[in-house]
Amino acid sequence: MSRAWLIGAGPGDAELITVKAMRALAVADVVLVDDLVNPDVLQMAGPQAKIVHVGKRGGHASTPQREIIALMLTHLRAGRSVARLKGGDPFVFGRGGEELLALQAANIPVEIINGITAGIAAPTTLGIPVTHRGLAQGAIFVTGHGAGDDEPDWKALAATRLTLVVYMGIRRLEDIARQLLQAGMPPHTPCAAIESATLPAQRQVIATLSTLHAAVRAAGIGSPSIIVIGEVVSLARPDDAAAVHAAERPLSLGIGFRQGVSTERIDAAVRAALGPRSLDEVVVVGTLDRKADDTSLTAFCERHGIALLGFTPAQIEACLDEHPLLPRSDTVHEHTGVHAVCEPCALLAAPGSTLLAGKYASDGITVAIATKAPTE
Ligand code: SAH
Repeated sequence: MSRAWLIGAGPGDAELITVKAMRALAVADVVLVDDLVNPDVLQMAGPQAKIVHVGKRGGHASTPQREIIALMLTHLRAGRSVARLKGGDPFVFGRGGEELLALQAANIPVEIINGITAGIAAPTTLGIPVTHRGLAQGAIFVTGHGAGDDEPDWKALAATRLTLVVYMGIRRLEDIARQLLQAGMPPHTPCAAIESATLPAQRQVIATLSTLHAAVRAAGIGSPSIIVIGEVVSLARPDDAAAVHAAERPLSLGIGFRQGVSTERIDAAVRAALGPRSLDEVVVVGTLDRKADDTSLTAFCERHGIALLGFTPAQIEACLDEHPLLPRSDTVHEHTGVHAVCEPCALLAAPGSTLLAGKYASDGITVAIATKAPTE
C-alpha cells in the first residue's frame, strides 16, 4: 500500500506553498488537483506524475466527493502514491477532514501538509492583520455559503466583536450584511471584499457594513472572494489606490429643512449624517421644489460642487407610493404638503438608488442618504 498526502497549495501565489508541499509534489505518482489551485504549482510535480483535475471551475463538471475518494483509493491500492492538492489549507473549508477519515478507514498512511489559508492571506495583501491588539482579540472563520440549518448564527457572531472572515460568502453578501446589521453590528463597521487574493487578478473593495454589498456589485467583485468584517479593516493600506476609489459609491442626499437655516448649519448636519463617509462622495442633493432655490442650500451645494434638484409634491407622493416601507408623518404633511421629504428626495435624486441610512435629524434639518444600486 502506498502513501497519501493532503496538501494545501496556499491561497493563489505559487510562491506561498510550503517547502514540505513542494517535496511531496516532486515525488507523488498521482496529483489530484482542486480548481482553486494555481496551475503554476503543478510545475512542482515530478515528470512521472499523472495530474488529474477534479475541480468544478473552468468548464469542468465537479467530481463528487465520494468519487474523488474512490479515485484516490484506486490509485493507492494500485501502489501509487497520491498527492491531494487543495487551495489554501486542506483543513479550512477544504473537505480535507472527510478525505482523511476515508483514508484512515482504509488503513492508508496520510500526511497532512498545511497551506496558507485565503482568510489570512487575502487581508494580509491589504495590510490587514486578522487580529490586532486593541482592535480584535480574535478572528472567526465562517462560511457564508450555508443557508437554512447550515446558516451560521450571525447574531451570536456579531456579539463577539471579533474579526469575521467569511469564505464563500460573496453571493450571499446582501443577506449576511442585513443579518449582521439586524443583530446590532454598527453600519459603519469597516469591511473588505477581496477577490483572487495574492494573484495578479486580485481586486478588492473597502467599504462599510452598510455599503459593502453595493460597492461589491458596483465593482463586479465575484468568486473566489474573502470578506473581512471588523475594525481591523480600518488598517487597510492597499497599494492600488484606484481599487479603493472603486469602492466609493456616489451618494445622493435628500434634505428637508425649515426656513432660515444657515449654510453652516446645513453643512454641519450633512457631515453628521454622513458619519465616516466623505462629502466628496455626494453627487446630488434632492429637496422639495419650493426649497430648491433657498440661498443657504444653493450656497452649500455650490461650495461642494453638488447638483441640486427640486421635486414636486406629486413626485414625492408617487415615490412614497412606490416605497410603502418608507416612514411618513402627518405632522410633516401639515408643514410641507407631503408625508415625507428627505427619504423620497434622496431616492428621486438618483433614480434606481436605495437608502443607505435612516433619516438623520439635527437642528431643524433632516438628511437621508441613498446610493445608486448598479444594475447587474
Ligand atoms: N481551503 C481553502 C478554502 C476553500 S473554500 C483555504 O484555506 O483558503 C473556497 C473559498 O475560499 C472561496 O469561495 C473563497 O471564499 C476563498 N478563497 C480561496 N482562494 C481565494 C483567493 N485567492 N482569494 C479570495 N478568496 C479565496
